[in-house]
Amino acid sequence: MNLPYIDTHAHLNLPAFAEDVAVVAARCLAEDVAVINVGTTEATSARAVELAQSYEHCYAIIGLHPIQTAPSREGEGSAAQGGTPHREVAETFRPDFYRTLAATGKVVGIGECGFDYFHTMSGSYAVQEEAFIAQIELANELELPLMIHTRGPKPGEASPTGRSVYADVYDVLKQYAKVPFNVHFYAGTYEEATRFFDLGGTISFTGVITFANVYEDIVRAVPLRNLHGETDSPYVAPVPYRGHRCEPWMVKEVYKKLAAIRGEDEEVVRAALIENAQRFYKI
Ligand SMILES: [Zn+2]
Repeated sequence: MNLPYIDTHAHLNLPAFAEDVAVVAARCLAEDVAVINVGTTEATSARAVELAQSYEHCYAIIGLHPIQTAPSREGEGSAAQGGTPHREVAETFRPDFYRTLAATGKVVGIGECGFDYFHTMSGSYAVQEEAFIAQIELANELELPLMIHTRGPKPGEASPTGRSVYADVYDVLKQYAKVPFNVHFYAGTYEEATRFFDLGGTISFTGVITFANVYEDIVRAVPLRNLHGETDSPYVAPVPYRGHRCEPWMVKEVYKKLAAIRGEDEEVVRAALIENAQRFYKI
């Protein structure tokens, strides 16, 4: 369903929306915002597909989040914010499960997959890599784009490879990916972004750009064609909704801010972001 706006990375499939997802989905439709819900486990991927089948303006991306591939650090899950419940036991990526799920329709990508050095225990690099590669292989087989998660280590901690998480993700994508990919919640350098663009990648920004100015130079420099807008709801509500649960219709504030930072016409940017999403996710 083509609407004037799309949130390319949201999580109406997570517990934060368990009580009122119908209300929020209706609000998105009333605000002209289509939504791509991104899976983090088998259960939340199945839920994203369920929502896509229930609501014409919802789509699904299915996969296993890197923090779910290994037990997370005690108490550091995103459960407190209504995210995926904290897991004691890790989940293994089972291609057959996701292949079957993808066949149910309205699945527009695989992920989110990649590397997370922030929430995971040291020593989990190998299992994260294994799940990442397995998801790339499934995306290649199904000819679906990849949704990439990247999170560097905590300040003062070293990454398991001694390199930037973007360099690590880049190497795996370069070696295995035959499909386009989006690096979501982008927080790398512009140089790293251009390397992704050369591989056929795009990057997306959340509501963080409405209250932090560290991404402005990159936002200005990115070719409009390589850009997507997202909320990552229920996390990081944009200004003027700080302190509230983030909902996908708030992506309009992200669109506006992208245009403002770039000094471009809001309508030109909106139209380009919609065109990008339609081309990239074949919606
Ligand atoms: Zn996410």
